[in-house]
Amino acid sequence: MGSDKRTEYKRKYRAEARRLLKDSYIKRCLKQKFKASEITEKMIIECRKSIKKSRRRRDELEKLRTIGKCKCRTCHKIDCIGNFTQDKSKKYGHRQVCPQCESKRINGRQGAKEYTKKYNKKIKENLEDVYVRMVLSSGSILKRGDIPQELVGAKRQQLLIERITKESWNEKRTNKRLWEF
Ligand SMILES: [Zn+2]
Repeated sequence: MGSDKRTEYKRKYRAEARRLLKDSYIKRCLKQKFKASEITEKMIIECRKSIKKSRRRRDELEKLRTIGKCKCRTCHKIDCIGNFTQDKSKKYGHRQVCPQCESKRINGRQGAKEYTKKYNKKIKENLEDVYVRMVLSSGSILKRGDIPQELVGAKRQQLLIERITKESWNEKRTNKRLWEF
């Protein structure tokens, strides 16, 4: 009986700590990611702030749900639930970001991808230092920054020669084909 009472007391104490965001509860949350010795006073304060913020958002969303509305996570615009994209994997069966913000995010990501592609093409075409260093360091323990500039220059020459040889070889091959026909 005694141990039952103790468990009951512990459960109640924990629920209370959770409700009031006591240090003990916050520490328990932080222990999922950090060692007990790593947890500082500042971390507890920050963590409490972020939990409070997310609880506020949750309460606000609950209130909005009762009138069939939802607030976008990104632009904070309130709109009917029906206008949010359905997604069964999400908690409420729909996404919490409005379709406009979603498409903006996707476009932004594609823009970044295209930019990277263009950048990579440019450095390869011009045999820029960055590219040559990348070639030299791939598959080696050397870091890009550790490669001496003379080596970069030499490698650039080599790559250039390889490129020219390849081009002339391709030319010869097409010429040969032209001859055959
Ligand atoms: Zn939005």
